[in-house]
Amino acid sequence: MTAVPIPNLPNALARIRAIVGDKGCVTDPEAMAPFLIDDRKKFLGKTPMIVRPATTLEVAAVVELCAQHGLAIVPQGGNTGLCGAQIPSPAGAEIVLNLSRLNRVRDVDPINYTITAEAGCILAEVQAKAAEVDRLMPLSLAAEGSCEIGGNLSTNAGGINVLRYGMARDLVLGIEVVLPDGRIWDGLRRLRKDNTGYDLKHLFIGAEGTLGIITAAVLKLFPRPREVVTALLAVPDLDSALALMVQAREASGDKLTAFELMERICFDFALRHVPGTHDPLNQAYDHYVLLELSSSETGGLRATMESILESAIEHGTVIDGTIAANDAQAKALWRIRETQNDAQKPEGGSIKHDVSVPVGQVPEFIRRASAFVTTLIPGARPVAFGHVGDGNVHFNVSQPIGADRARFLARWPDMNHGIHDIAHALGGSFSAEHGVGVLKRDELVRFKSPVEIELMRRIKAAIDPQGLMNPGKVLEP
Ligand code: FAD
Ligand code: ZN
Repeated sequence: MTAVPIPNLPNALARIRAIVGDKGCVTDPEAMAPFLIDDRKKFLGKTPMIVRPATTLEVAAVVELCAQHGLAIVPQGGNTGLCGAQIPSPAGAEIVLNLSRLNRVRDVDPINYTITAEAGCILAEVQAKAAEVDRLMPLSLAAEGSCEIGGNLSTNAGGINVLRYGMARDLVLGIEVVLPDGRIWDGLRRLRKDNTGYDLKHLFIGAEGTLGIITAAVLKLFPRPREVVTALLAVPDLDSALALMVQAREASGDKLTAFELMERICFDFALRHVPGTHDPLNQAYDHYVLLELSSSETGGLRATMESILESAIEHGTVIDGTIAANDAQAKALWRIRETQNDAQKPEGGSIKHDVSVPVGQVPEFIRRASAFVTTLIPGARPVAFGHVGDGNVHFNVSQPIGADRARFLARWPDMNHGIHDIAHALGGSFSAEHGVGVLKRDELVRFKSPVEIELMRRIKAAIDPQGLMNPGKVLEP
């Protein structure tokens, strides 16, 4: 399913330029550079052109033309993806179709609790549009200032509110897609009930751009919280973190919106490298939980948090902690969590894992994984953090102090292998929320059954018979 050689590339590019205009084409190498490298600087691609259409009709015309010329397409949103799926291959034979100019909010409907946004809308802007009509768009992640709705849906993004509101997939009522032959499927339904055959939108959500281009979506909104209470609690060990979560959930019902774990090293890195951070507690502890309750009613939430804390201290599941007194304090607590990606960079090479296990297995996973990496590479520094309420651990491993960065990073596949095996043995997944892309393509084959792989290949062949949509991503070409 590889793309056929492009017989007349200059002609195809000229025709694309005629569709999207000069404003919609980037060919200058310096201007193209930021689109061709990912946030972690792990993937560097090449392309003859970055195409930036501004309407669905332009997208459709470009895709149809590419189908005629056998020209492969790499869809791209905010370029914050962590698996290399939005970066073209170094062979330079694919165009990048960047959706950022397709960024209109088409409709906000507070009665239906929906917002219809184009693919290039930045997530934070969609949240803000919802807030303008007193509604909540609950998808939230550290990259929300630059990631876009099309990318969020194509990766089925998770983030910090999954515990209460689900993954991106759970927030979608309808989508509009440009199919690989250039036809537009208008599936922008705004219905909460619609049992009319196969639910096709779910094929495109989480497909990482391998089946078509999402151009717009109808997203669910929720009542906006009137009260939010955030606390940072130190727990004596990982099992206590779990016990605390169970207890907090029982005591607060569905008001528990976030439950994030951080180990001490996360604080050390943030305090060292992120300006404006300070240790919220007077003393250092091994494990912390950042917990958020929110409610669309007013009054009483702080009391609920206090009673959770009191009871947890009594049971020994919490040994210290602080409840944010205001918004600024809550933001300061979240800042330590949300800057983890950047805080790890100055510490040298970091090998990443984004695994999930059934929630009750999180402590065992972290124990086994930490033992594994420090045996594999003595001195390696496990940095475990993440959305523990969803069973999702970002188990990153920083290089030993003073080690050679390149030699450490060369162990990436070995380390991934071992960690993914541990997650799998505990009933988990090698990719919780970041996707597969190029980074984890080999792991997909290792862990999915032949039946599942065959079904995926058949779906790919049925929708994209020429293999032009993001070739080599998720599945081998
Ligand atoms: P891109 O990176 O541009 O693309 C991602 C994938 O989607 C690629 O396969 C691309 O081909 C495809 N794609 C993009 N737009 C379209 C479209 N319109 N149609 C079809 N395919 C398309 N992810 C989480 O899930 N949870 C987190 O908590 C989280 N935190 C992060 C924190 C940081 C600091 C960073 C840098 C990343 C984080 N991510 C997280 C990963 C990333 O932000 C998400 O995967 C995000 O959803 C990607 O959106 P994007 O617009 O940047 O997409
Ligand atoms: Zn995450």
